Amino acid sequence: MSGDFPNEEEWELIDPEDLPAIFRGSETEGTLVTSVRSLRDLIQRATGRVGDREALEDAGLAEVHPFPFLALVGMEQVQQALMLAVINPRVGGVILLGPTGVGKTTAVRSLTGVLPRVPRSLCYYGCLPEDIEEGGLEAVCASCAEKYRRGEPLAVMESARLLEIPYPVQPEEVWGTLDERAARKGRHRLRRGLLGLADRQVLFVDEITRYPREIQEAVVEAASQGYYTLSRGGLTAVYRSQFVLVATLNPQRGRLPFHVLDRFGLRVPMNALDDLEARALLWERLHAWRRSPRAFVASFEARTAALRQEIKAARDRLPRVRVPKDVARRVARLASLLELPSLRAELALLEAARAHAAAEDREEVQDVDVRAVAPLVMALRRPREAERFFETQEVDFVPLQQAVQEIFPQEVAS
Ligand SMILES: [Zn+2]
Repeated sequence: MSGDFPNEEEWELIDPEDLPAIFRGSETEGTLVTSVRSLRDLIQRATGRVGDREALEDAGLAEVHPFPFLALVGMEQVQQALMLAVINPRVGGVILLGPTGVGKTTAVRSLTGVLPRVPRSLCYYGCLPEDIEEGGLEAVCASCAEKYRRGEPLAVMESARLLEIPYPVQPEEVWGTLDERAARKGRHRLRRGLLGLADRQVLFVDEITRYPREIQEAVVEAASQGYYTLSRGGLTAVYRSQFVLVATLNPQRGRLPFHVLDRFGLRVPMNALDDLEARALLWERLHAWRRSPRAFVASFEARTAALRQEIKAARDRLPRVRVPKDVARRVARLASLLELPSLRAELALLEAARAHAAAEDREEVQDVDVRAVAPLVMALRRPREAERFFETQEVDFVPLQQAVQEIFPQEVAS
């Protein structure tokens, strides 16, 4: 993946046994939130060179045992959007929009417990076995090619992680930079940044509007391309960045330019729960979790494990899920009826519908899948609509629902 493969003697292989516990997959806990504070922090954890024990301790129990995904109350839309994105990262990420205190961040962090197992490269450059399947031995570094010939693993399977972009963040933490440690030894090479380290993981941008525009653009760009290019000091490297992007935004705190907002596949407006019973239940659960996070998480573990299995089954099924021509044609009609300015919504709708079909144990997309995901995909897709949202904090779903009903009519039960 990298354009600056060093000489053979420069390899630094990362032995999984050297990794700090928080960075190893953990079957029993499945709660690997890593609140990364800086690139240095992240790399040190990833390579296991410096103990991250202090970091782990002051992260607090609540961080190490995130609120269980299935304990969320009244957030079905949010849960559905997050699940679709995890099942099919091609939906293009999720953005949760709403005021402070509605549980956006808690909801995102709760994902940690249900994330599937993904390959984690054992190599400094992030080579994976699938690179060889796709591009032959040329597609990986010389050391990995050699390991592959010897039949040694290039990666280990472990639970995907939720990586949070720290705030504030330096540009080199996001993109990567020249490797100073290597430079001190007279070597010249690049280190990938968070965008590359998040490959196959979930990258979380909390309150995206507080970050500089260039960071917002880089994150959505890397997520939609699946790779990014880093050039520093005469070196250029291309890093894979196939991550699930999740962001939150408080419309009272700031606006996101339309071209950045449009890159998010799924968008979920959130408000405080108006159902008093639901509020009481959520409060009770949050209280129980804060008091005793480990026990509370454990009380949901059987259900959480079952959900992890379902997600895995849906992900395995996804490559076989096809979209009938007739459905694809009507999705295009829906986009034109709604006068959407870009193709992105259409593509996101098809991918989200595929994920929905996979989750429903089918290999063919049906109208019901499109109807289920359309509100998540098609809201706030027109510049004027987005502008209105930032002024009023409200989304008008009526025209969208009418258009969906016209082209994907709900059969009336007889
Ligand atoms: Zn390699």
